[in-house]
Amino acid sequence: MRIGLRVDVDTFRGTKYGVPNLCKVLADHSVKASFFFSVGPDNMGRHLWRLTRPAFLFKMARTRATSLYGWDILLRGTLWPGPVIGEKLSSVIRSTSDAGHEVGLHAWDHYTWQAHIDEMEDDAISETLRRGVEILTEILGCPPSCSAAPGWKCNNKVLLAKSQFPFRYNSDCRGESIFRPIVGGREIPQPQIPVTLPTYDEVVGRNGVTHGTYNDYMLALLDPQKLNVLTIHAEVEGIACLDMFEQFVKKALTKGASFVPLGVLLREYPETGSSAIVAKGIPGREGWVCCQVSARVDNGND
Ligand SMILES: [Zn+2]
Repeated sequence: MRIGLRVDVDTFRGTKYGVPNLCKVLADHSVKASFFFSVGPDNMGRHLWRLTRPAFLFKMARTRATSLYGWDILLRGTLWPGPVIGEKLSSVIRSTSDAGHEVGLHAWDHYTWQAHIDEMEDDAISETLRRGVEILTEILGCPPSCSAAPGWKCNNKVLLAKSQFPFRYNSDCRGESIFRPIVGGREIPQPQIPVTLPTYDEVVGRNGVTHGTYNDYMLALLDPQKLNVLTIHAEVEGIACLDMFEQFVKKALTKGASFVPLGVLLREYPETGSSAIVAKGIPGREGWVCCQVSARVDNGND
């Protein structure tokens, strides 16, 4: 059984500490993954405004967000401009690629994308993608071969803008099979590799799942007959939940599973044709995420 392993890197702290931690664990178990980097300014602390919303307060309590993310992440970008991650931490990104992992673009500015993608016009979307691709190209010596939208926030404008860049594939939505997205009746040639499994913060604290039972819950969701794509976060599994994640890797390997970068799945799993994308709410996550139409996105019941 294959598990496509996607590492989302959202912040300066996640890049500086979480990525090297994860690279060490993955090397110890001879695992290769796809890392999607946020390379522009770290303004993630602007998420603090969400503290005023009761649903977010509840979520903070449920997932212990301050211990998960650290106060420096929560405050970043609120009092002074955030540091440009791709300038300050280019060596971390280069080392990840040199270690044999697939490296793709997550975002130029993760916060702005997640909060404002709905209002952004075509030019602004293209510009933010261009800045991200440009700095990653400088770091890697070649353009990134793939991308993954922050928070699964994607729409038709994003799909069209991304089709102008040399990405082999994109991973912008939740779903169940590799497909080509349809926009305005036209098929976009870049395949989508959807994430099929829920994330740590979506699962823990719901339906009786705890930090202690999380790994077994996730292992039970894996299905050898289907596409399995897991997202972990450098800020979570790479720092506060590093031991838990290493145990997950060990257990999955013992069960005969193997982890691969998402690009490998492209060779091994047939595309299931084309499909539109749609914004949907999913259990355990605030707001909407982009989903493959017709896919049953199974995050458990609330
Ligand atoms: Zn992210």
